[in-house]
Amino acid sequence: MTIPIHVVGGGLAGSEAAWQIAEAGVPVVLHEMRGVRGTDAHKTDSLAELVCSNSFRSDDAETNAVGLLHAEMRLAGSLIMACGDSNQVPAGGALAVDRDGFAAAVTARLEAHPLVSILREEVTGLPPAEWGSSILATGPLTSPALADAIRAETGADALAFFDAIAPIVHFDTIDMDKAWFQSRYDKVGPGGTGKDYINCPMDKAQYEAFIQALLDGAKTEFKEWEGTPYFDGCLPIEVMAERGPETLRHGPMKPMGLTNAHDPSVKAYAVVQLRQDNALGTLYNMVGFQTKLKHGEQVRIFRTIPGLENAEFARLGGLHRNTYIDSPSLLDATLQLKSRPGLRFAGQITGCEGYVESAAMGLLAGRFAAAEAKGASAAPPPPTTAFGALLGHITGGHLVSDDEPGKRSFQPMNVNFGLFPPIEAPKSEGRRLRGKEKTHARRRAITARALADCRTWLGLARQAEAAE
Ligand SMILES: Cc1cc2nc3c(=O)[nH]c(=O)nc-3n(C[C@H](O)[C@H](O)[C@H](O)COP(=O)(O)OP(=O)(O)OC[C@H]3O[C@@H](n4cnc5c(N)ncnc54)[C@H](O)[C@@H]3O)c2cc1C
Repeated sequence: MTIPIHVVGGGLAGSEAAWQIAEAGVPVVLHEMRGVRGTDAHKTDSLAELVCSNSFRSDDAETNAVGLLHAEMRLAGSLIMACGDSNQVPAGGALAVDRDGFAAAVTARLEAHPLVSILREEVTGLPPAEWGSSILATGPLTSPALADAIRAETGADALAFFDAIAPIVHFDTIDMDKAWFQSRYDKVGPGGTGKDYINCPMDKAQYEAFIQALLDGAKTEFKEWEGTPYFDGCLPIEVMAERGPETLRHGPMKPMGLTNAHDPSVKAYAVVQLRQDNALGTLYNMVGFQTKLKHGEQVRIFRTIPGLENAEFARLGGLHRNTYIDSPSLLDATLQLKSRPGLRFAGQITGCEGYVESAAMGLLAGRFAAAEAKGASAAPPPPTTAFGALLGHITGGHLVSDDEPGKRSFQPMNVNFGLFPPIEAPKSEGRRLRGKEKTHARRRAITARALADCRTWLGLARQAEAAE
């Protein structure tokens, strides 16, 4: 009899992980505390409860990164996608679900599976050695006792309880005729070049209008149970603006040590800096720009910054209660804790964001653990797939900043095209494409490559060939 794999947490990630393990023919014990102990956000005892919106976002697998992730998960036999599809409600191009029907379906399918046992209990420490292979998928609201145990294993700096997120911009949407590359005082630093930042200059009138827009812009409120988590000197920019009109100019927007490469004779009154965020160089984060402004307001206000008029955002800023580990330093390429082989993490606690992404990381952790239990090697998905792109961000693609010691730079992220290896936009009848046409052509090329590589990774391409 094969030893069961233990999965802790029956949310989006844990439910998917348990399903993948059982479908691979390996027994699994799923430990879920709801029923015995609740969280601040969940309202039911159902597995895979959606705590807020009922949307899995875009279902367009051709030109949208999360739609592509849906498609890859369907190819991999995802329980979350199957139950989402069978409980769909009308939502245009998005996949939205009847939340109660969806959670009831996930719960029923897992309860009915002969290889799945579900235990309703809080796990208060790291899995004991006798459990063998285990997956922790306890999510953004991991219970305090388990969070303490994780912190004791990983070190206090490697576990965060809030995310303070600054927006991230797709590099190819920044107007480099206005912005320029330069590090403050041309400092090279360890591993730098002296030109590591993108700088967006503002004159006095632009700066004053920007500060006013921050003060006037609509903000999201903290939930009562979140408290007001201003920490690490990570104040939201609108809170800094409230402290006085000059605060930002002496903080993240200070113009010192910078010379406008396009017009060296004009000194900027303030400067917004962006720093490379991923190894591919496709994403740049707005330095020090964590914010509670509503998403629509962020897009409107940040597009007034010179150079960012046409910016497309891979992620917008936010500040939330969220428990997550510093995965790039702690996990290997199969989501395994380097310090404790056999223990994997999955879901939002690994530093991904969103229902679908969390379920996808559960799917991968489940497959990796099941493969190992069967004596096979756990082969990670290619980086060209949505699975691989997201896994790469979590386990290694993110760049750590040298010049802000003590500050956590790895932040949760949704899947987006900036995480994929770049690809040339195909030409149309020998003609070079431009603008939106080019963006769409490039996205189609990325998604076609991803689905082909995903089929190969899953062994589906071989099966199709054999069937012919
Ligand atoms: C308030 C809030 C609103 C959100 N809104 C959205 C949204 O609208 N759209 C979106 O895409 N994402 C949203 N998210 C993010 C969302 O939580 C994740 O995307 C997703 O639910 C994470 O999946 P997960 O499986 O990692 O965690 P969860 O789905 O939270 O599952 C974790 C499970 O582990 C259980 N658990 C915790 N500790 C223990 C323990 N010690 N022992 C046993 N079981 C334990 C919990 O009860 C829970 O069932 C929101 C998050 C929060 C906190």
